[in-house]
Amino acid sequence: MTAEDKTRLAALLDTAGDFLRDGHWRDREAPAFEDDAAAARGIAYAGDTPEAIAGDIRSCSACGLCEVRILAVPGEGVRQPRVLVIGEAPGSEEDEKGRPFVGPAGRLLDRMLAGIALSRSTNCFITNTVKCRPPGNRVPLPAETAACVPFLIRQIRTVRPAFILCMGRVAAQTMLRTDEGIGRLRGTFFEYTMDAASGAAAASIPLIATYHPSALLRDASLKRPAWEDLKKLFTRLQT
Ligand code: SF4
Repeated sequence: MTAEDKTRLAALLDTAGDFLRDGHWRDREAPAFEDDAAAARGIAYAGDTPEAIAGDIRSCSACGLCEVRILAVPGEGVRQPRVLVIGEAPGSEEDEKGRPFVGPAGRLLDRMLAGIALSRSTNCFITNTVKCRPPGNRVPLPAETAACVPFLIRQIRTVRPAFILCMGRVAAQTMLRTDEGIGRLRGTFFEYTMDAASGAAAASIPLIATYHPSALLRDASLKRPAWEDLKKLFTRLQT
């Protein structure tokens, strides 16, 4: 139901109540309502599914990126992943296909994950911090990230990964709520704590960040530290 529908319904009920109680209506300020779609973006509910979230993402117009995208890119992978992989935002191939990490950086990501026995077809779910492509692959604006992150939170609450792997600065800074550079954030395990909102039990998920595969394609010297980070995740996965 839209906010406008709710306002009309509330006014109708108030007016009916006024007439029944006092025989006349009273002037009063309309209460503030939010559209169901907007409210649902950040709230995982019992029975929520990756498919339902994907549907809400594809029809989302909560920020200006909806006007320049070809396809929104909700994410893909298994329903109960060992690892949730979070990138920055879709690029041009992802925008055309509606799938995450399918361009050159995506092919490198698949190889990196395969090196530690992970893949989107067996034990990972892959998504982005922002689900629609920013023009020219620019970094998402803070307002765009803020508008889109509720979907990511809902995905985390729904798929409940054992680990989170952040690829690059934007994902790491968003998940850890910090302005620290990726050089300082990478390679260390943090705990991402889900709050107990909307009936979900509070839970802590180990999170590690490394360089984005696009950065590795630009600067080969980052491949070794990225591999060291992935090996740390591999070790934790074994235990
Ligand atoms: Fe909605 Fe996120 Fe796309 Fe913005 S980037 S339109 S918030 S799905």
